[in-house]
Amino acid sequence: MATPAEARVDLAAIRRNVALLKERAGGAELMGAVKADAYGHGLVPSAKAVLEGGASRLGTAFVGEALALRAGGVTAPVLAWLITPGEPLDRAVEEDIELSAAHEGLLVEIAAAARRAGRPARLHLEADTGMGRGGAPLAAWPGLLSKALELRAEGVVEIVGVWSHFACADVPGHPSVGQQLEAYESALKQAEQAGAAGSSVIRHVSNSAAVLTLPAARFDLVRPGIAMYGLSPVPELGDFGLRPAMTLTARIALTKRVPEESGVSYGHLYVTDRETTLGLVPLGYADGILRHATGRAEVLAGGRRRKVAGRVCMDQFVIDVGDDPLSPGDEVVLFGPGDGGEPTVQEWADTLGTITHEIVTRIGSRVPRVHQHVTTDTPERP
Ligand SMILES: *Cc1c(COP(=O)(O)O)cnc(C)c1O
Repeated sequence: MATPAEARVDLAAIRRNVALLKERAGGAELMGAVKADAYGHGLVPSAKAVLEGGASRLGTAFVGEALALRAGGVTAPVLAWLITPGEPLDRAVEEDIELSAAHEGLLVEIAAAARRAGRPARLHLEADTGMGRGGAPLAAWPGLLSKALELRAEGVVEIVGVWSHFACADVPGHPSVGQQLEAYESALKQAEQAGAAGSSVIRHVSNSAAVLTLPAARFDLVRPGIAMYGLSPVPELGDFGLRPAMTLTARIALTKRVPEESGVSYGHLYVTDRETTLGLVPLGYADGILRHATGRAEVLAGGRRRKVAGRVCMDQFVIDVGDDPLSPGDEVVLFGPGDGGEPTVQEWADTLGTITHEIVTRIGSRVPRVHQHVTTDTPERP
């Protein structure tokens, strides 16, 4: 059955990108970030491709996402790093989900869940080394360590990892990067001296940008997200040989011939300057085509680029193809790897003043993800 629109996801491209990142990580383990439905690419199929590509672990923001991986048959180690008081942590411990903690109150909750589950919880302690978002501020770090040690002595937790996150790894040469690395080294040293970070503890700080540009930040494990999906974490440095995995397509719902001076869509922001053919594309802002794309973003239709003509609506937008042939059912490509002349996600992000992460994660639930194996698995050398 044909659908109005679909997001095709090239799982072979994901595998290949992960293999490339693994190589770039030079011996460090790889935890693939598959939060937000694997950045919109479909959680379970993408996660399996990430593991096949060479990741040994997966990371999610929320416990619910980690449990969805288990429900989908994924048995690899999974870390959930954004936990809110009152979440169902018993299930997380029972399902062997590793949990991140950055304050003592959460450690107490995790320990209680572990006692009820009858098995130790596996912890990653997060230090705020300058990101100013998650993580324990360094002033609270010793307290967090001693609480974790007390619970470990009781046998209810294991300390698996000590980690942090960069604020500016995607800004080459940003001075905060070195400062954060120093702060991380010092947090690690304190953990070691307290006895909370033995030789088996996993140290990790690198997102995609750091994996590709900061060899000094690899430590034991890297945590890329966006680059696994083939999108550059530092676009000004190029594509690093990554292959975009998602192609967003729609089929034209309706075409019509209209006279010169015809107003198009809400507000008549677009008015035809000649007799022309309009095509109706069945994707709108409810599907993640930002309203801001009005009059700006381009799609590939009938072999040529066409700008979104007039307002993007909730479910649809219009393109003007002039005198070119276009029929209902014809395919329009919003973005893809760019091989066929279609825009890339990077182009959409640049046009809309955002980052590729936001474009792919906002593709809505009405758009089916169709998983394919297209690209060859052998990484090309960048
Ligand atoms: C999202 C996220 C990542 C991956 O970031 P990318 O920029 O997509 O590589 C890694 N670690 C944490 C904690 C994250 O939230």
